[in-house]
Order: sequence, then structure tokens, then C-alpha cells
Amino acid sequence: MSETVNPFEQMQAGRPTGPLVHGYEVIIGFETHAQLSTQSKIFSRAPTAFGAEPNTQACAVDLALPGTLPVMNRGAVERAIEFGLAVNAHIAPRSIFARKNYFYPDLPKGYQISQFEIPVVQGGVVEFFVETGKGADAVREKKSVRLVRAHLEEDAGKSLHEDFVGQSGIDLNRAGTPLLEIVTEPDMRSSAEAVAYAKELHKIVTWIGICDGNMQEGSFRCDANVSVRKPGAPLGTRREIKNLNSFRFMQQAIDFEVRWQIGQIEDGHAIQQATVLFDPDTGETRAMRTKEDAADYRYFPDPDLPPLVIAPEWVARVRSEMAELPRVMAARFVADYGLPEYDATTLTQSKAMAAYFEATAKACGQPKLASNWIMGEVSRRLNAGEMDMAQSPVSPTQLAALIARIADGTVSNNAARQVFDALWAGEGQDVDALIEASGLKQMNDSSALEKIVDDVIDGNADNVAQYKSGKDKAFNALVGQVMKASKGKANPAQVNALLKTRLG
Ligand code: ADP
Ligand code: MG
Repeated sequence: MSETVNPFEQMQAGRPTGPLVHGYEVIIGFETHAQLSTQSKIFSRAPTAFGAEPNTQACAVDLALPGTLPVMNRGAVERAIEFGLAVNAHIAPRSIFARKNYFYPDLPKGYQISQFEIPVVQGGVVEFFVETGKGADAVREKKSVRLVRAHLEEDAGKSLHEDFVGQSGIDLNRAGTPLLEIVTEPDMRSSAEAVAYAKELHKIVTWIGICDGNMQEGSFRCDANVSVRKPGAPLGTRREIKNLNSFRFMQQAIDFEVRWQIGQIEDGHAIQQATVLFDPDTGETRAMRTKEDAADYRYFPDPDLPPLVIAPEWVARVRSEMAELPRVMAARFVADYGLPEYDATTLTQSKAMAAYFEATAKACGQPKLASNWIMGEVSRRLNAGEMDMAQSPVSPTQLAALIARIADGTVSNNAARQVFDALWAGEGQDVDALIEASGLKQMNDSSALEKIVDDVIDGNADNVAQYKSGKDKAFNALVGQVMKASKGKANPAQVNALLKTRLG
């Protein structure tokens, strides 16, 4: 391995120091492989469907049998363009396919067709919020991670170990499946930030429909490059955790790796650049192989493929056919509905959630309330039931009807939550009927409320005296008494106002 300066060093100058772990700053960069959702392979017409009988979907081109020639799949290029546009990157008008030479049982042809010096997508940025701390201490920070590049390449086959004893199986079905490899600058500073980045990237590729995002099936897999350093020191040596295919494992793997590296350094050992695997059973990472350098791959332009030329008209057409992007939609939610940026970003987690929000907001005319309910009550229940938005038993129309009843003072927030429970459980469909049946209607009859207020004032001479001598707490106690006497049905704002007038 050569002792050169890390080429990523320069791009880190001037970035603020991240949170420290035992006095060390954590540095993370991601390489993500997104399988593109084309029907056929990147350079052949063989199908890409998942789960077929082993070795039934790799054709002669995928195996590079003599006499075959690869032909670029337009659909794969188009998806790369869509991605580039989604992250505000530069689409290279001319990019080059290269051979990355290595042999592995799942790559019997001896090389992978990839892009090296000139990738199709260059630069770009992914922005997201990271939340740290819980409850009242929660802090939300907006982060942005710069992309270095995204390049097109073919996937390799798969080695199978599970059904074999003392031997491995090779399934070449995946060989030639189109991949977009998305590489970041080492801009992330914690496992939480890394996971938030990965989730945002996952959202982008599934939103624009270039990848099905199925992590169990390996359609979206992340390699996390992790190093630690003392604040202000040059970048440390990284170890690369391969093929993280769940957000939970991602967090666990990075946290373990950080602790391990700090332990090594504190014990006086230097970190060796290496590729490591995360074992979910032990929660540990372990070295798989020491890391190859680019030179080991003997990259050279693939003589079988011409340069990939993308005319501006092609980019323009792709752009015009793309649906509204999540960040554009989020900006519109801020502008049109007056939502905070955080709400707008959260509500554009998925197309289904964004559509649910818009339908609710339009139907009730209360966008902020709609946002609060969807980010809170609705999301909580969906998460608990591991459901997605489409499975919500409460429709936007029903939620809007309920929000309208909060806004016009018919029910309190608390009461509305109980009505919402009933709706969710399918105990009724009509919001007004459920409110009626539940007896949770706020008391809007002012003469009844006035009577309660008077009774409370008469029965709590102590508090009244204290309030008059300037103790605000005593006032709150009186409000509490009235609410209690009304069985929670009084409108708190009305109670406040009434008490104030009565007490002069
Ligand atoms: P390779 O394919 O050999 O892993 P790349 O240059 O394509 O190399 O990708 C390197 C990845 O490692 C990038 O995501 C980059 O941000 C990240 N990286 C580089 N240096 C460090 C470092 N010192 N600590 C953490 N991540 C790093
Ligand atoms: Mg790598």
C-alpha cells in the first residue's frame, strides 16, 4: 500500500469538527450500490428478476463468453441521469466504461465493467435532518453530504454458503445487473448522521423510481468507510464495512467499529486499511481482507464499449419527464402551507406520506395541525404496526374532519386523540358521530361553564386570595379545578378568559 496523502483530505479543510467520542472525531464516507430497476441487464437482454432458479438468468454476454459483445442498456443510463438531476449533480456529456480486473468465484469473467476516471454523474449533494437527543432535549440539525460521483457498473454473481456443507455454490443470475455506485466525500461525523444520510439516499432513489430499495434482497447496499482522528489531525486510516443491508445494522456496525478503532489506537496499534464485515449475531466487525488499491485492479478503458455520450437534449427530456422531487416538494410545502422546513422534509419521506398530507391539509385548511397529526399520531401508529402510509385505516378525509373539529373548538386535542383511536380501530367511520357517541364534546355552552367557574371560585377561597396577592400558580390551580369539574370537556382558553373576568 502506498503512503500517499488521502485525496479526500483537501475537501475536508474548513469543515466544522464533529461530536467527539472519547476525544476522537469520527469520519465516515459512504459507497452505496443501488440496483437499477431495469427489466434487463446492463449490457445484455437477460432478465434481472430476483429469486429465479440459480444460473437461469445469466446469458453469454453476462459471462463474457468469447464472441459476445456488451451493448449499453439505455434504461440504465436514463436512471443514472435521473439520479444526477435529483441530487443537483453534473451529468457528464461523455463518460467511459473501464474494466476493473479481479477474479473471484462470483466473477469468473475476471473483470467487472465499471466507470473509473470519468463517471457519468459527478458531484451533487444530499441534504437531510439529523435528530440527536430525546424528548425535550432533541436537537434537529440540517446536514449536507457532498457526493463525489455516481457511476454505472455491472453487478457480480453471488456465492451461496447456506445450503452447502464444506463447499459453496455459485449463482450467476445477478451477473450483469445494473448498479449505480454512489460515492460520498467523507462528510459524515457520527453513526446517526450516516444512517440519516442512507435513509435520505434511499428515499431519493425510490422516490424517483430508479431502484426498488429492497434492502433484504440486496437492491440497496451500503459500504461505510470509517476512521477516527484527534480533532484537527489529518484523516485517519479507514476501514470499510461492506454490504450493510439494514439501517439498524448500519448503526450498530459503525458504533462497534468506532469503539474498536479507538481501542486499537489507545493500545498503541496503528489502524490497517481493510475491508471488514459486520456480523449481526455478534454485533462485531471483523476483517475480511486487506484493502486493494486502485492500482491492483489494473483499470483500463473497455475496448468493447464506446464512450457513453449524453446529449443535452437527452438530459432535458429526462428532466421534463421527472415527477416533482422530494426537496422541491418540501420547498413548496414551506411556501404554500407555511410549514417549518423540518415538517416539510419529514412529510416528504415518501410520495404516499406527502400525498396524505396534502389531501388532509386541503380538506381541513389547517396545514400545521395536519402536519403535527401526521408526523405524530399517524406515524407513531404506523411505525408500531410496521405499516406504511397506504395501509393507514384512517383516510385523509377522516383526519381532516377531526382536525376541523379541533380547530372549531368542538373537541380538545386530548379528546381528539381518543376519537382518533376509535377511528384507527375501526369502531366507526364518521368523525362527528364518534365525537357525539364518546361524550367528549367540549363544553361550549357558556352558561353551564359560568356556573362551574362560579362554584370553583366559591369553593376555593384560598387560591382566589393567593391569586389576588399575585401568585400565578394559584390561577393555574383554579383552571385545573374547573377542567376537572367539567370532566375535561371545558375549552381551556374559554376557562382562562372566564376566570380572569370573574376575578377582576
Ligand atoms: P474505494 O473504492 O477504494 O473504497 P473510493 O475512493 O471509491 O475508494 O471511495 C472511498 C470512500 O471512502 C469514499 O466514500 C470516501 O468518502 C471515504 N473515505 C476516504 N477517506 C476516508 C477516511 N479517512 N475516513 C473515512 N472515510 C474515508
Ligand atoms: Mg470502497
